[in-house]
Amino acid sequence: MGGSSAASVIVVGAGVFGLATGLALAEAGMKVRLVAETAPDLTASGVAAGMLAPAFEMALDPPAPDALGLLLAGRDLWPDLAGRLGVALDLAGAAAIGPETWLDGLEARLVALGLESRPAGRAEMEALSSGLGTRFPSALVTPEDWRIEPRLALQAMVRRLKDLGGTLETGNVTLRDLEEAACPVVLATGADRRLADLAPELGGLSPIKGQILWRPDFSPAVGVIRSPGAYLLGSGGGLLAGATMEAGRSDLAADPEAQVELRRALADAFPTLATEGWVTRVGVRAASPDGLPLAGAASRPGLFLAVGARRNGWLLAPLVAKIVTSAITGEDAGRWAARLDPLRFVRDGNGGR
Ligand SMILES: Cc1cc2nc3c(=O)[nH]c(=O)nc-3n(C[C@H](O)[C@H](O)[C@H](O)COP(=O)(O)OP(=O)(O)OC[C@H]3O[C@@H](n4cnc5c(N)ncnc54)[C@H](O)[C@@H]3O)c2cc1C
Repeated sequence: MGGSSAASVIVVGAGVFGLATGLALAEAGMKVRLVAETAPDLTASGVAAGMLAPAFEMALDPPAPDALGLLLAGRDLWPDLAGRLGVALDLAGAAAIGPETWLDGLEARLVALGLESRPAGRAEMEALSSGLGTRFPSALVTPEDWRIEPRLALQAMVRRLKDLGGTLETGNVTLRDLEEAACPVVLATGADRRLADLAPELGGLSPIKGQILWRPDFSPAVGVIRSPGAYLLGSGGGLLAGATMEAGRSDLAADPEAQVELRRALADAFPTLATEGWVTRVGVRAASPDGLPLAGAASRPGLFLAVGARRNGWLLAPLVAKIVTSAITGEDAGRWAARLDPLRFVRDGNGGR
């Protein structure tokens, strides 16, 4: 890696965790050197849908039973971060469509969580899905879930990091590089576990492959719409539909067989949507044993972690960045730092590889 003496902190990884953390450290006055093997656009962060969705995530696939406060805390840091980055935040909310019983169950879970939602009729649904046509007559809308355009946000993070004197290099960081580092190092290495010999906490991460479908040629004005087994949204001059959850897989190959359920769910909700013309993008999420990130000091002195985002890396990035930055600068990390302590599994004896 060489030349680390000029930096006051090294961040490994240029996904949303690495960039948000690098940026927060630079904003705290540190000289940040960010090194990553993969360009931001090609990371899991670059292929993600960018939903900032505490409500529907808690109601449809909660990362942990006690995660709501954490997810809301992540979301609520976004307006400030998006403002500093100069990127738009879509605050229009998200809709869910599906059979009545499914919608009723969803609404009941949102109510139990104390989250806002309201029914929407056919006319509003048609406006939301811009004439795509849905099989279902009614919908549920929540104002709690927002969205950001991932690639624009990543580019803006890189720009701001450089404006603040930080650097971004392409390279593979090895165990030896870390042993030789003369300043604090943050590992924001996603689902990659090659550095687990130095940070055993990484050994407890497991990969979840995600395939997301993109129609670059087709841009109806569609907001975020969830349905049983799928979501659909308009993104960057195209349409995104996602996503598979393939636990234990970390390859980046397009796999049509694993998309069958997703495509069926899409056809179910949007029978008029063409089944051809979709491009597959693939990313690998990293899941910790309790579904929540590892953010803060690792067991090795001078080493810090920002990993384990599962499905909510975009949502949680500003909170993780704040916690890791506070751990390095000695500021108060706030009430969620203990819940995301990277040592919680090692201490409990279940974090090894
Ligand atoms: C299809 C899909 C849709 C998603 N949709 C959403 C969504 O709507 N909302 C949401 O909140 N989340 C979503 N997610 C989850 C989110 O994308 C991830 O949680 C998040 O991107 C993880 O970010 P990260 O920075 O931890 O890792 P990554 O984005 O994977 O970045 C890891 C970085 O580490 C680098 N790296 C690893 N090892 C080394 C090494 N030894 N040396 C140098 N560099 C190294 C890589 O090159 C890369 O730059 C989605 C994920 C997928 C796959």
